Amino acid sequence: MQNSSLPGTQAGKRTAYESLCDNFSFENERSLLDGLPQGGLNIAHEAVDTHANSGLAQTVALRFIAKGNTVKEYTYSDLQKETSRFANVLRGLGIAKGETVFTLLGRQTELYIAALGTLKNVSVFCPLFSVFGPEPVFQRLSRGGAKVLVTTTAFFEKKIKQLLERLPALRFVLLTNAEKHVDAKALSLRQLMAEASEQFAIPDTSPDDPALLHFTSGTTGMPKGALHVHNAVLFHYITGKYVLNFRPGDIFWCTADPGWVTGTSYGIIAPLVNGVTNIVDEEEFDAARWYAILEEQRVDIWYTAPTAIRRLMRMDIKPRERYDLQNLRLILSVGEPLHAEAVRWGEKMFDRPILDNWWQTETGGIMIANFPFMQVKPGSMGKPLPGVEAAVAEITADSFRVIDEPGQQGHLVLRKGWPSMFRAYLHDEERYRKCFHDDWYITGDLAKKDADGYFWFVGRADDIIKTSGHMVGPFEVENVLMMHDAVAEAAVIGKPDPVIGELVKAFVVLKAGFATGEALQMDILGFARKKLGAAVAPKELSFINELPKTKSGKILRRLLKARELHLPEGDLSTLELG
Ligand code: ATP
Ligand code: MG
Repeated sequence: MQNSSLPGTQAGKRTAYESLCDNFSFENERSLLDGLPQGGLNIAHEAVDTHANSGLAQTVALRFIAKGNTVKEYTYSDLQKETSRFANVLRGLGIAKGETVFTLLGRQTELYIAALGTLKNVSVFCPLFSVFGPEPVFQRLSRGGAKVLVTTTAFFEKKIKQLLERLPALRFVLLTNAEKHVDAKALSLRQLMAEASEQFAIPDTSPDDPALLHFTSGTTGMPKGALHVHNAVLFHYITGKYVLNFRPGDIFWCTADPGWVTGTSYGIIAPLVNGVTNIVDEEEFDAARWYAILEEQRVDIWYTAPTAIRRLMRMDIKPRERYDLQNLRLILSVGEPLHAEAVRWGEKMFDRPILDNWWQTETGGIMIANFPFMQVKPGSMGKPLPGVEAAVAEITADSFRVIDEPGQQGHLVLRKGWPSMFRAYLHDEERYRKCFHDDWYITGDLAKKDADGYFWFVGRADDIIKTSGHMVGPFEVENVLMMHDAVAEAAVIGKPDPVIGELVKAFVVLKAGFATGEALQMDILGFARKKLGAAVAPKELSFINELPKTKSGKILRRLLKARELHLPEGDLSTLELG
């Protein structure tokens, strides 16, 4: 367990977590933020200007590792100037408060400058995955009412030009690598930046002013546009401090792309608000590259996802034997359930557990976490953030009851009002309304809470399997399958069955060195039956080379199910190909 500099760690019998909750208030935390000189709260002010105007001006804010391994750094002072230039570019083009600015870029400098510059102008920022094809880009730009798109000339030629007629509201496309303006609409960002002043006074910003638009991962269906406000920065600050445990001088690396909410909340905002150095790698996953980055950049805190951890687990690399990782203090994971096996692997490989935490696009920030100063129960999501009330509820068409008894499975719900709560689903008020019951936000996930107050993920409400009168969460079954020596990844679905309602069907990816075959199939099924009991264990099992996943690395169980049952495959805009 790590030590922390948290208040109350020494207090009598109260645990560090309890003491943190006892002493916590959002008002106190808010008083630690700077605020705009004229009052108000703006994300970019807290992330950039406040540090540039203080002792952190010469601290490296962003360190980019480009594809060819060249490194480019921006101090907080540099970042202040560049983001102010971008805000002036928007102002010069007549882009107003509340209007939407999109990026379609890899993890390159302009994305980060555009994000923060847009927030300075109190416009709304929406990052898109650069790998989206023209149709998913069109869907999001049109639904989000894009006024500006920042992209490269290559993406413009390949993906955007063909859409322009269908996007009459799109006023400007800013090209990051064009030397000169192309026409009245497609402009050279370089030229505009060169002409813009590096001074920008952030206009009055209310904590409730819209700031960020994020599309969900599309794991369960059509991606939804979740709208967030500037007040979210308070929660990014808090979660950065207590979950990511930022300390002065820390080097932090979040591997997520800003096209997914984690890559913005924790790949841009939280580290900067907390004044640490944020590493950005332009490349995609590569085990050797990643370990080398951890070593060479002397990363203190590493925030990644189960899909990447499972890929590392499949490789025969003992990181501490090959790399000097003495700086690495914390490893965290989000996005999908982190199997107990992965937590234990982390303990073996890095001498520390991987800390799972739970949240979603709609929550804007981490809601439930394994804190660095808390006993980890492998397979559990941990406990709610201070100031956040989480509960398990029984919900039917006409009733809602918070379940007090430990160990009962139900809907994971959160008491409304945390600072980074989403404020709307784009163009879908009805859906937004339906997410709430009185004071509670219904997350769409199922969970259990144990007697010690730890939360355990059961599954998405949509993925739950009803078999012989039991409700089976895919996670508990996958968790057990992952314990089998031959299994690298597993996904479980419910398949309609005339006798038992649904039968549990597993899809399994084998580790290198294991061959598919009936004997192994029977062995894995038998292993699962022994651990889970016949009612819950899979009755069918197929081997598969790769599980279908979203671009943010989430297993698309709905697609496995659609393919198994020969049903329409639904929206596949976020499907990772290759
Ligand atoms: P969509 O809402 O479009 O179906 P999505 O829910 O996957 O997509 P995100 O908001 O990116 O989109 O993901 C949040 C969801 O990811 C959570 O609701 C939960 O189901 C899952 N998740 C995130 N972190 C964890 C975790 N630590 N353990 C288990 N599940 C997690
Ligand atoms: Mg969701």
